[in-house]
Amino acid sequence: FLPHLIASMEQVEETYVMVKPDGVQRGLVGEVISRFEKKGFKLTALKLFQCPKELAEEHYKDLKSKSFFPKLINYITSGPVVCMAWEGVGAVASARKLIGATNPLQAEPGTIRGDLAVQMGRNVVHGSDSPENGKREIGWTYKMTQDTSIVEVPCRLRTQRH
Ligand code: UDP
Ligand code: MG
Repeated sequence: FLPHLIASMEQVEETYVMVKPDGVQRGLVGEVISRFEKKGFKLTALKLFQCPKELAEEHYKDLKSKSFFPKLINYITSGPVVCMAWEGVGAVASARKLIGATNPLQAEPGTIRGDLAVQMGRNVVHGSDSPENGKREIGWTYKMTQDTSIVEVPCRLRTQRH
């Protein structure tokens, strides 16, 4: 029983982490990557990607009946996102801990949302909520990004205009 329990705790998993458009525009991609690298996870895929509406709706289909759903889809498709696959022991639950609570005002300091965000609708990052969803979300990203070329990141806020 005990060896079985320990083995299940040490499961190597892959999870899907996505820096949302606000995180990309605010220049937080490096900060997010850095936290996962320092924790000890292995980056196995990364892509800058403009999410089409259909994929956003599929990705969040469990939330379709919620009043905030249309705003959520607008937010996720409002600019490029950075899609990543991270691998490691217990990566799914651990990534969720590093990311913090959905509402950044309730997220603990030390978490990405707790340190870097204030609004639920601008909470910087997504992480899969189960190993099955991790696999599904990574799979879509591979499929959807196959023939997408590099997208232009809007950087108006950070670029001086003459
Ligand atoms: N969200 C929102 N208002 C809410 C709940 C969620 O805008 O009341 C957004 C928020 O950006 C969140 C996303 O919808 O990250 C997906 O919601 P979920 O409950 O899956 O939270 P998560 O898994 O991202 O913590
Ligand atoms: Mg979720």
